[in-house]
Amino acid sequence: MKYAPLTDADAPKSQWRPWHLLVLIVLVAATAIILMRNRTATDGNVGFQRDEGAIFGTFYHATYRSSRSLKADIEAELQRVDRSLSMFNPTSTISRINSGTSDATDSLLQYVITLSQRVSESTNGAFDITVAPLVNAWGFGYKSGTLPDSAAVDSLRALVGYRHIALTEDGRIEKDIEGVVLDCSAVAKGFGVDRVAQLLRGQGINDFMVEIGGELVVSGTNPDGQLWRVGVNKPVDDATSTSNELEAVLPLTNCAMATSGNYRNFYITDDGRRISHTIDPHTGRPAQHSLLSATVIAPTCAEADAFATAFMVMGLDSAKALLESQRQLQVYFIYDHDGEDLIYSTVH
Ligand code: ADP
Ligand code: MG
Repeated sequence: MKYAPLTDADAPKSQWRPWHLLVLIVLVAATAIILMRNRTATDGNVGFQRDEGAIFGTFYHATYRSSRSLKADIEAELQRVDRSLSMFNPTSTISRINSGTSDATDSLLQYVITLSQRVSESTNGAFDITVAPLVNAWGFGYKSGTLPDSAAVDSLRALVGYRHIALTEDGRIEKDIEGVVLDCSAVAKGFGVDRVAQLLRGQGINDFMVEIGGELVVSGTNPDGQLWRVGVNKPVDDATSTSNELEAVLPLTNCAMATSGNYRNFYITDDGRRISHTIDPHTGRPAQHSLLSATVIAPTCAEADAFATAFMVMGLDSAKALLESQRQLQVYFIYDHDGEDLIYSTVH
């Protein structure tokens, strides 16, 4: 049997038309939209892990998009920070330096000291990691019922000053006078948050929030696929209050935020004075201003944390003036004006 060669005329007519492609695109897009809607509506936080635990005398929370828990790695990283910076751990790097056992730092402490010295320089010494002798005097003064007098404050002030310490090239701490003590508590929480954020990014995770005692980093989107919503507490004037009333909710991502407030850690003396745990290194006394809380948004949480403390020392006007030269910062300040809480915000 012979087959005649096929010609074009014999071929089945193609049904293809350009508008078919259009229909196909519309169908695919519609299916994708429906699938995404369903996912957000019913199963929006698929793949998000939530971890929490105790650290640095407070709690950490981590929410991150991952199919497996990284809790053990997160806590190992936080312990690493604790072994470097904790004032309560007698074998931490900082404790060994303070007790005179060693002058050697580690890479974490080097980073924190370098950052702290930079913030000290740019805040004209309002932030100062050598302030501990004064913090202790005011704290212990309260506990023992006798606040330090001017003579005591002056003699302790002689031990305070960030210029008394320097980091050598081989990673040692040099002090130019005896009795200088390092205290990185004002930046440790923020730094811990940065380290955990770095750990998550290193695992290829982009959607997360990490928080330690109110200092936090947010990245990517939340489980609803939206910006993270971060609360700023109302400065409720009550030492015993555990109120978490919010002054504002800020939609944020890809940034760090830290808050320092004189409404949380303070005590009232018998004669009605409020003693906050933020000390003005220049006066040697607790900072006292109209500023009730300073929330700072910055590229890193360590930096946000340090500036938040510095702004509480500086007060509203000096803090506002400094913002001119610190363009990487945004702030949300709550301050008292004749008994009324007012807001100064540069958050956009
Ligand atoms: P806040 O949440 O109010 O900022 P932090 O825990 O960040 O509180 O920091 C408070 C600690 O900072 C104090 O307990 C003290 O050890 C330290 N500190 C106080 N005054 C200063 C200062 N001027 N510069 C640096 N650290 C300070
Ligand atoms: Mg702080």
